[in-house]
Amino acid sequence: MKKELEIFTFNDLLDLFPYRHLDRTKINLIREITPETEYIQVAGRITSVGVLGEARSRRLVAELRDASGVLELVWFQGINGMQKLLQVGGEYLVFGRTGYFQGTPQITHAEIEPFVKDKTEGQAFLEPIYPTTEKLKGKGMGGRQLSKLTQVLLGLVKEKDLPENLPEAVLSYRDPATGQPFLSRYEAYRQIHFPTHPDLFLRAMYRLKFEEFFIAQLRLGLIKSRRHRYSQGVAFTQVGEFFNGFYTQYLPFELTGAQKKVLKEIRRDTGSGRQMNRLLQGDVGSGKTIVALLAMLLAIDNGFQACLMAPTEILARQHFEGISELLKELPLEVRLLTGSSRSKQRKEVLAAAADGKLHILIGTHAILEDSVLFQRLGLAIVDEQHRFGVAQRARLWNKATIPPHVLVMTATPIPRTLAMTAYGDLDYSVMDELPPGRQPITTVHRYDDRRPQVMDFIRHEVEKGRQAYVIFPLIEESETLDYENLIRGYENLKAWFPEPRYWISRVDGRQSQAERDTNMQRFLAKDTQIMVATTVIEVGVNVPNATVMVVESAEKFGLSQLHQLRGRVGRGREQSFCILLTSPRLNKEARERLNTLCATNNGFKIAEKDLEIRGPGDIGGTRQSGMLNFKLANIVQDRELLELAREMAERVLEKDPDLTAEENRGLKVFLQGQHGKTQWSKIS
Ligand code: ADP
Ligand code: MG
Repeated sequence: MKKELEIFTFNDLLDLFPYRHLDRTKINLIREITPETEYIQVAGRITSVGVLGEARSRRLVAELRDASGVLELVWFQGINGMQKLLQVGGEYLVFGRTGYFQGTPQITHAEIEPFVKDKTEGQAFLEPIYPTTEKLKGKGMGGRQLSKLTQVLLGLVKEKDLPENLPEAVLSYRDPATGQPFLSRYEAYRQIHFPTHPDLFLRAMYRLKFEEFFIAQLRLGLIKSRRHRYSQGVAFTQVGEFFNGFYTQYLPFELTGAQKKVLKEIRRDTGSGRQMNRLLQGDVGSGKTIVALLAMLLAIDNGFQACLMAPTEILARQHFEGISELLKELPLEVRLLTGSSRSKQRKEVLAAAADGKLHILIGTHAILEDSVLFQRLGLAIVDEQHRFGVAQRARLWNKATIPPHVLVMTATPIPRTLAMTAYGDLDYSVMDELPPGRQPITTVHRYDDRRPQVMDFIRHEVEKGRQAYVIFPLIEESETLDYENLIRGYENLKAWFPEPRYWISRVDGRQSQAERDTNMQRFLAKDTQIMVATTVIEVGVNVPNATVMVVESAEKFGLSQLHQLRGRVGRGREQSFCILLTSPRLNKEARERLNTLCATNNGFKIAEKDLEIRGPGDIGGTRQSGMLNFKLANIVQDRELLELAREMAERVLEKDPDLTAEENRGLKVFLQGQHGKTQWSKIS
């Protein structure tokens, strides 16, 4: 029981919420079962019981009859216990998820108990159904038994055992829809398990969902407000010659309003004497790199070193080359460190970082390794952080005695609700403006049978001197198959472009780093016109001359991934195109994704849609931190409640930043009691 459901204490048991309630007074007829039926409760007589099959297919099969029909009950586990319980001729009450086997309705691992006619009298209005596991069911600890245990426990629990944790200021809130206050914590727990009225059940849900959000927001808010008040940070007090010199002489373009705004925010943060922890959200192509570079120059002007981390070698290298080029007239030491750096070169880089000769270090995860020490690291930037776990971000902090300022830049926008939950401890900047002169990318969806036209189109663009990407999916489960598809696609393309003047590069995960680099390099240098690749090039790659992005089997990609891929084109002044190729058989979700993509180029809108379709999932590498896993609340469906919780948490912390006031005592006690149970420590 402990292991299976992670229940160790009485409180854990109370926190195991029912996933639905069953009206116990309602007993269906077996005849009413249809292929659409999900769960059903029936009552009837067992007419036969027997063990069938051998080894793994060994199962207990019982036949249950009521006046209307026959239902088959099957158990693969807990056979012995169940066999003892079931008497042929006995009457039973059965609940479970229905299915069909060879035309007969069936319930596997049903919850079953002897049927007592008047049992429903004096019972709770609705009976809770708890999540349980097959193994526990086999041991006689199914949902029904859990329900009984919980009922007993709730009978013993006093108000003081479930003390109120919301402060008065929050409890005075009235739900605008109903005018009702929050239920007390004690009442909410009773009602969520054994509601005495459906309205009270809804209020219990409302209260407990709010509590989940509120506590989460409060924790994040506490981290943030403590950092704002107490954290030590290195102060970048001046804007010096590197920043100014670069800005006035080498900046290749005028900054957009959004870029300037973000730089101001960074200057304010880094000048405050507190550590900066800022999340920069900017759509694909909004120009985050130059912001990063200017921030690094600011650090250098103040006598500090800076580092920039990217999620892939290709990207790190590209940043290194781009930034070295931009800084080539300035006396600055910029170095690259990746997993494939040769040991001699690696040693040099490490030495330069440690003795302070190096000003900017660009690299991959390799920078996080303990052997990488800086003399005076003042700023760490994480680019395209989708692939960087939260824990890795924290490792950066330990690279200097006074933790460096941290700027995290996202690859694609994250919806506000999600950012609030996952990165609520960070300050937050948005770049919602693209550099001028960009033409919106034209996106179309085509079925595979139009490939010839698509090839003609590529040819047409290549003839104009442009370049094209053709991307193939590479999904882990079917890696070999996908790889074969990629190779076949590559061969096909060569057949479409047989003339010697056409050159095609290929970049995929099975190539060595050197091979990948060479191929990427050739494409960058325009030696090749077409790049066939898997999603290894997904983020960040910048080839402004490329104007066509063809995505093969586009239905296999997620929305933000497609948006990210599309962002590889439309980086120059020419009109660019994104062509999504799919098979004609598409499910509803895939169709919705493709339609969304064709309809908008706005990453913020796409992110919202993505969240809607997919649910929170693992956006932003947040899964391992457990921050999006609320028990009851759902950040998509309950986003208004999340907003409310955040506002209230902010209000509480504004008045009482350390929660020392008497009226927040209950809250503080609760937070301390929870400490260690959740994984909050991971992000702080
Ligand atoms: P992302 O935000 O996706 O990382 P990049 O930093 O790679 O975007 O910038 C995309 C392209 O836009 C680059 O070619 C960059 O040089 C260019 N760029 C960035 N800022 C501006 C600007 N203010 N005006 C014109 N072009 C810009
Ligand atoms: Mg970028």
